[in-house]
Amino acid sequence: MDNAHFLWQTGWYCDGQWRDSKQQYEVNNPASGQLLAKVAVCGTQETQAAIDAAKRAFGSWRNKTAKERAAILRRWYELMMEHQDALAELMVLEQGKPLNEAKGEVAYGASFLEWFAEQAKRANGETIPSPTVDNRLWVIKQPVGVVAAITPWNFPMAMLTRKVGPALAAGCTAVVKASSDTPLCANALAVLAEQAGLPAGVLNLVSGDTAAISDTLMASPDVRKLSFTGSTRVGKLLMSKAADTVKKLSLELGGNAPFIVFDDADLDAAVAGAMASKFRNTGQTCVCVNRFFVQEGIYDAFVEKLAAAASRLTVADGMTEGAEQGPLINSVGLEKVEQHVSDALAKGAHLVCGGKRHALGGTFYQPTVLSDANEQMLLAAEETFGPVAACFRFTSESEVIKRANDTPFGLAAYFYTQDLNRVFRVSEALESGMVGVNTGMISNEMAPFGGVKESGLGREGSSMGLDEFLETKYVNLGQV
Ligand code: NAD
Repeated sequence: MDNAHFLWQTGWYCDGQWRDSKQQYEVNNPASGQLLAKVAVCGTQETQAAIDAAKRAFGSWRNKTAKERAAILRRWYELMMEHQDALAELMVLEQGKPLNEAKGEVAYGASFLEWFAEQAKRANGETIPSPTVDNRLWVIKQPVGVVAAITPWNFPMAMLTRKVGPALAAGCTAVVKASSDTPLCANALAVLAEQAGLPAGVLNLVSGDTAAISDTLMASPDVRKLSFTGSTRVGKLLMSKAADTVKKLSLELGGNAPFIVFDDADLDAAVAGAMASKFRNTGQTCVCVNRFFVQEGIYDAFVEKLAAAASRLTVADGMTEGAEQGPLINSVGLEKVEQHVSDALAKGAHLVCGGKRHALGGTFYQPTVLSDANEQMLLAAEETFGPVAACFRFTSESEVIKRANDTPFGLAAYFYTQDLNRVFRVSEALESGMVGVNTGMISNEMAPFGGVKESGLGREGSSMGLDEFLETKYVNLGQV
């Protein structure tokens, strides 16, 4: 630890000040259950104060040049990387992922600040040929205003920077509501933002009473945009609440990712991709594989190799040297995994490895592989969000595309093949916002991240990520 206790903030952040509250809530280490900190509970008043601060700060922040905003974002990126180890250790304690993964998330999260510092300077408009001789037509891009960002616990730093980076780059100001499981990670980033020179009120953080906070954000006419990452259930609820004030929306919601292994795949590469995509973050990622579809000719060999690799994973507290899989976030997550496994076994699945709570106790669960999965099982219909690889058998390409698409979700999809014609056919046929072909890792700041169908609206990262926080204004000039 780089002696960075200053990163631990338990207050709430408004108008450039850390504030206390009358009530606190407990944040616990998911690996040990131990109390980590008591954090300020925010409700209606605090949220309104945060919105007001963001509104006051908007005028001067939007009037800075893009280059000035970019310099602050760039410095924030550098500070995140300078404190990568300390931020990662805080994340392990609060969220549970292994230290190496946490370091990776800090770098991934920081990359959005670096990227959008550059993109800030490219919020270009355009001029349009006029249909009349005397008129001139042009289009400018302007920040949407105060943005509300609601983030989940599974990537507590990267989901914040993936929203706040482009929002601030565009000239918006923000009120962030972090998950009550991981407020310390969000607070640590605000500490560094302040050090980077972010003016008071540009970024404000509240957490605690989720219902009061979100109702205040959603009812406020001053909040012009909601950027949400979380479950489809909550996303739908917020979408309906956004209607009253017609807020712009970006929604990054749940998935049900298929991972298709064709007979012609490189078997070892497919197993390596499967491990990365399924067991990272203990299976708690929105782009995690939820359904492995394996062609009949390669099915037995794939299941055997996957189970061998899963059984070799080192399950431990994320701070333990060599840890590869940490605990689940809480007992609700653990119970869902247990329910999905027992339902699958009752409906004809076979346990190839794992299938039980881990001997470490708490919310640790064994890396699990199930064969003979079918569409009647709960795990075929909804995210398990845990370390369970369910393997379905298929015969033909047309059959598997139909089955892969037979879900209301469409975030990520993966497939392994060595047939180039199939690469084009299948990637075009899959109903998802992102497709990994012969790779299990698809997230980076330069590519558009997002889903179709009930997996969401809008894109994060890439040049499209900035557009989500910009309004388009068209100007028609007649004679002067
Ligand atoms: P969640 O929907 O329970 O919570 C997400 C956020 O919404 C948290 O801050 C939470 O406090 C808040 N929230 C909960 N109930 C709310 C309500 N009624 N009104 C307003 N806010 C509310 O999700 P989670 O368990 O924190 O995260 C896991 C989910 O997020 C999974 O479904 C996962 O697929 C999804 N996810 C999606 C992406 C993506 O980019 N598409 C990325 C990460 C996670």
